[in-house]
Amino acid sequence: MDRYAVFGNPIGHSKSPLIHRMFAEQTGQQLSYEPILAPLDDFAGVAREFFRDGLGANVTVPFKEDAYRLCDELTERARRAGAVNTLSRLDGGRLRGDNTDGAGLVRDLKHNAGFPLAGQRILLLGAGGAARGVIEPLLAERPASLVIANRTVEKAEELARLFAELGPVAACGFDWLEEEVDLIVNATSASLAGELPPLAPSLIRPGHTRCYDMMYGKEPTAFNRWAAGLGAAQTVDGLGMLVEQAAEAFFVWRGVRPDGAAVLAELRRQLA
Ligand code: NDP
Repeated sequence: MDRYAVFGNPIGHSKSPLIHRMFAEQTGQQLSYEPILAPLDDFAGVAREFFRDGLGANVTVPFKEDAYRLCDELTERARRAGAVNTLSRLDGGRLRGDNTDGAGLVRDLKHNAGFPLAGQRILLLGAGGAARGVIEPLLAERPASLVIANRTVEKAEELARLFAELGPVAACGFDWLEEEVDLIVNATSASLAGELPPLAPSLIRPGHTRCYDMMYGKEPTAFNRWAAGLGAAQTVDGLGMLVEQAAEAFFVWRGVRPDGAAVLAELRRQLA
């Protein structure tokens, strides 16, 4: 049986095995997909052991940068993201690193949530790994502007410099933000602690501004509750990004594109 896995620490909570099992059933592919708990100090050892016969693996927190360093070759989108979430074994045992997080976000925004991106004023909150991975695919959708705002302003400025050649990207701190925008994507980890970056209510035009939090869970996130309270047109969490980055990885490995929307609907039904 063709063998795939997801590496993380912790890994017990991961929905990836369930998602890939559903994709395999949906597309009639024969494969196994297992969660692997990698020790914090030996990701490379565990990954090498797996790839003696494994064909591909996803990589989650906190190993995406370790995976980047382990690869013999990188796709352009992984190189720009500075992180790898999808590993594939090539002939001769070489490892190729890819990053499907950004493609997953854009697909979820456009196809599942129905958010327009072209010509939009987009505000991206956060400048960590998740933010960096989505900048290139967001710019490829030709927004009117993409502003990266972060608590540590220098990190946002660094990202804006890194991606400046690809489109209209700028950086600032939260306290400089006042003007309304069309779309806000929250890529901070503040929601994990039930917190909210200090954002001006004037960013949201009631009935118009759409909001997306990369975090997901049973309850609406602190950011989405804030946005809904101000009358945001739509608020969506990051469960669809998780499903769609997995669908893109499945496509990279198997050459078959699963139906992410159907799996997302099933996961939402199970979460409810
Ligand atoms: P990182 O640790 O790399 O970055 C965290 C970011 O959040 C930094 O910009 C940090 O700012 C900011 N931050 C943290 N706490 C606060 C706070 N209280 N107020 C304001 N800003 C804060 O994390 P990742 O980029 O890897 O992940 C970010 C989020 O995205 C997580 O919630 C993660 O679960 C989610 N995610 C979801 C995915 C999905 O498929 N749905 C995929 C990947 C990530 P500073 O630089 O100043 O420290």
